[in-house]
Amino acid sequence: MVASARVAYLARRAADYGVHTAEVSVNMVEVRQRKQSIVDSFRSGGQRVIENTENLDLLFGEASFTGPRSIAVKMNDGELRRLGANKIFINTGCRPATPRVDGIDQISALDSTSIMELDELPEHLLVLGGGYVGLEFGQMFRRFGSRVTIVQRASQLLGREDQDVADEVAKILREDGVEVLLNTEAARVEKGGGGEIRLTAQTPEGARTLTGSHLLAAAGRVPNAETLNLSSAGIETDRNGFVKVNERLETTAPGVFALGDVKGGPQFTHISYDDYRIIRTNLIEGGNATVNDRFVPYTVFIDPQLGRVGLSESEARARGLNIRVAKMPMSYVARALEVSESRGFMKAVIDADTKQILGCAVLGLEGGEIMAMIEIAMMGKLPYTVLKDGIFAHPTLAESLNNLLNI
Ligand SMILES: Cc1cc2nc3c(=O)[nH]c(=O)nc-3n(C[C@H](O)[C@H](O)[C@H](O)COP(=O)(O)OP(=O)(O)OC[C@H]3O[C@@H](n4cnc5c(N)ncnc54)[C@H](O)[C@@H]3O)c2cc1C
Repeated sequence: MVASARVAYLARRAADYGVHTAEVSVNMVEVRQRKQSIVDSFRSGGQRVIENTENLDLLFGEASFTGPRSIAVKMNDGELRRLGANKIFINTGCRPATPRVDGIDQISALDSTSIMELDELPEHLLVLGGGYVGLEFGQMFRRFGSRVTIVQRASQLLGREDQDVADEVAKILREDGVEVLLNTEAARVEKGGGGEIRLTAQTPEGARTLTGSHLLAAAGRVPNAETLNLSSAGIETDRNGFVKVNERLETTAPGVFALGDVKGGPQFTHISYDDYRIIRTNLIEGGNATVNDRFVPYTVFIDPQLGRVGLSESEARARGLNIRVAKMPMSYVARALEVSESRGFMKAVIDADTKQILGCAVLGLEGGEIMAMIEIAMMGKLPYTVLKDGIFAHPTLAESLNNLLNI
């Protein structure tokens, strides 16, 4: 869907490249069908591999513990299966949280799952939450043609990012026509007489009522843990309901492990996969892998992307590290200028003593891929000067590292 939105954006900008198109229109049914066929192909491919693996049974149903090392599965066909094992892995993930806003249960709010099944284009989408889910969908639907308002309680978008990164993201979204309201707390939501959604919010200038056709609740995710009957098996959760694990992903019950989002962050697909690597290394290969000191890269799929890995500048300063900060606007990058996509900037945090790169934020064209190049340098503990003086093909985005790190 992000890809469809980007095509709509570029098609509208076609004249910037000397290419002239007719008026651009978006067919949401076709956007959804395209998304669905990609999801179906990934899912059926994964399922086939599991079904064709010897000694592996795949059951469709809802599982819960019945005691230590024993579970019951309410199968989708109604049958109840009871299973016992000396090793059990909990990998049940999270689901969207319902924000605490008066009246939210009385309207049909969308969440990150249901918004992907819309066949119609919202006339005005109100988005509660300025985290990555709210921003990705907000920009996407703006590009499809909706009016979009993002309501964020905090004073910046993307709470864990440096202020300058968050400010630049807000600027980009506003340039795209998204209304971004910061320091704004949603207080009450109700259906108006004409079926419209009326959201009352407290802004720094006082109470304001926003009227929209649809509302997306994008205010975090909660663990799928409360129906697992974890206490019957001696498995403890933290105060937010996430399964407690140690650095080897062992729960408080012997023989039971937890992987992925349900154990608390970082909530990313690649971290869930890395959790599997830890379990495989320890249980199958007899190794001693832990979650300690692993890289947690991520990419926010707004456009331009925000690729992030390692320490942010504010985290490094809070730790009192002796750092140097390299920062460069994307308008200095030849490749970005050549393709007329030069919004954003890149920034790297460097340890002034070891000269190693501690982290980076790349808000720019293919920011996730540029971030990964820097991450590889971090993996190899290269001093930043190796990238500064490295030879990269011209005119690629990679060569921008020469200039970024020329500090
Ligand atoms: C809108 C959105 C965009 C995202 N974008 C990205 C991204 O770009 N990159 C990224 O890395 N991550 C992204 N994420 C996060 C990513 O989806 C999760 O981190 C990842 O899916 C977590 O994987 P998991 O293995 O923990 O569990 P999940 O993928 O959540 O799978 C858990 C499974 O367990 C099943 N289950 C739950 N309870 C039970 C039960 N009692 N019995 C049986 N089965 C059960 C669920 O139905 C589900 O199929 C995004 C998330 C959202 C919502």
